[in-house]
Amino acid sequence: MNPTVQPHWHQRASQLHIDPRAFIHGERVDVHGWGRFNSINPQDGAIVASLPSCGQAEVDRAVESSRKAFQQGSWSQRSPYERSRVLLKLADALENNQEELALLDSLEMGMPISSALPDIQVAAGIVRGVAERVNQLSEQLLPSAPSTLALNLRVPHGVVGAITPWNFPLYVAVAKIVPALAMGNSVVLKPSELASLSSLRLADLAHAAGIPAGVLNVIPGLGTETGRLLALHMDVDCLSFTGSTNTGRVLMQYAAQSNLKALLLECGGKSPQIVLDDLGDLDAVAEAIVHGYVWNSGQVCVAGTRILVTRKLYTPLMERMVARLDAQRSGDPLDAATQLGPLASAVQLERVASMVEAARSSGAKVVAGGARDEAMGGCHYRPTLVAEVPHSHPFMQEEIFGPVAGILPFDSPEQALHLANDCQFGLAATLWTRDFYLANQMARRVHGGPVTVNAVARPAPGFVTGASVEPARVSGFGSEGGMAGLLAYTRAKNVQFRLA
Ligand code: NAD
Repeated sequence: MNPTVQPHWHQRASQLHIDPRAFIHGERVDVHGWGRFNSINPQDGAIVASLPSCGQAEVDRAVESSRKAFQQGSWSQRSPYERSRVLLKLADALENNQEELALLDSLEMGMPISSALPDIQVAAGIVRGVAERVNQLSEQLLPSAPSTLALNLRVPHGVVGAITPWNFPLYVAVAKIVPALAMGNSVVLKPSELASLSSLRLADLAHAAGIPAGVLNVIPGLGTETGRLLALHMDVDCLSFTGSTNTGRVLMQYAAQSNLKALLLECGGKSPQIVLDDLGDLDAVAEAIVHGYVWNSGQVCVAGTRILVTRKLYTPLMERMVARLDAQRSGDPLDAATQLGPLASAVQLERVASMVEAARSSGAKVVAGGARDEAMGGCHYRPTLVAEVPHSHPFMQEEIFGPVAGILPFDSPEQALHLANDCQFGLAATLWTRDFYLANQMARRVHGGPVTVNAVARPAPGFVTGASVEPARVSGFGSEGGMAGLLAYTRAKNVQFRLA
């Protein structure tokens, strides 16, 4: 059957065999833990799966299994070349199972299948990129006296705890654990309670591809239970987290209270899009800006939700954006033509609705959307644009995580830069201009890891490989992507030999 026709995906979904069990030491295991929790389909409220929330015994078992595997060396002591060969098999497995993985993400958090499927392909590309790069890393022989030999080495941390969010479940899990594995670490992954199933399947596929037992364990569970236990664990050497800034703050405390584990924090954002005078095609820019913040229903860490526009283009750009927002095709995530699915949960829907209401009741003008999508039901919210809201208002300062943005005019590039940086977050930024001298000046001064010019920031821009980014301010710290993203999963070590 043609995969673009809706019944195909519903039929595939009804045939899915869902295994919610934890993956510990190379196999699926039944656990009792704290009890169970349900993952809910935000399109129709149906229970997708009932999962165990791993408790102290399971977290200990997973960490112990990872430690044992690390010490025993069946992965950590293999050459980068051998590890990369296994990772290439994993990339093939992701592609061979892309429909199943995309469906699991779509069912659990509502991402349209038209986005979920390419997302798995991007994840497979990340694995291939890591497998290639790990063979290009070199260690350093230092200048020293003839009687000595001195080496600067990079060694794996050991056991890495990974905690991931729900907005791109499989993609973020891959982007996090594959560099860690490539550098020889063992990993214990706790996926989001809203969307754990693709991460559990990832563990099955990794094991089948040749990752030895214990090197990757996946323990489902609630953040405040399973996540907390992992973050406080005394035998986890490094904690790599992607999620909200609030949780990031808590994890810093857990690291301090336990064993001062190394931390990598990829947290929230409220990224600016700065539209300058010298533009090309205004229609194309309007299209790209809208896509940039409504894609995945706005549940994108780098979404450009503070739209700052030079005064002369403010009204014409806004009109073009409103036309495009009103034309967005909301629908069933399993319909391949759907552009906009539901928000991932009722909690998320409530947050988005209340933030728009707060802006409206303080005098802002909602120029598009601004309400639940009653026709769609479920957790759908109409794509929204809000004007005349002060930049200091929480609507412009806090991460909302929905298909909603604010738009404001500015009178000079310097004022635009001031507004862009007048925010606690520093995750990403986008500039729109053909004045590349100005763009270069501003790109260096604006806060943000990825800064894109004439293209919206995406977690993995399709036109570049090997990019390394590091968030600023309360968006976190620690590199992701490229060579720096591999080195983040190692420590520096110096070894000196006295030869005579
Ligand atoms: P969240 O912080 O609520 O949860 C993220 C993960 O942390 C989940 O697995 C959750 O179970 C766990 N967790 C929650 N409380 C915990 C605790 N006390 N101890 C240990 N673990 C705990 O975030 P979310 O709602 O799942 O995801 C959305 C957030 O993720 C947004 O803020 C978004 O910007 C951010 N995000 C950032 C990036 C990035 O690269 N910077 C990428 C994707 C998402």
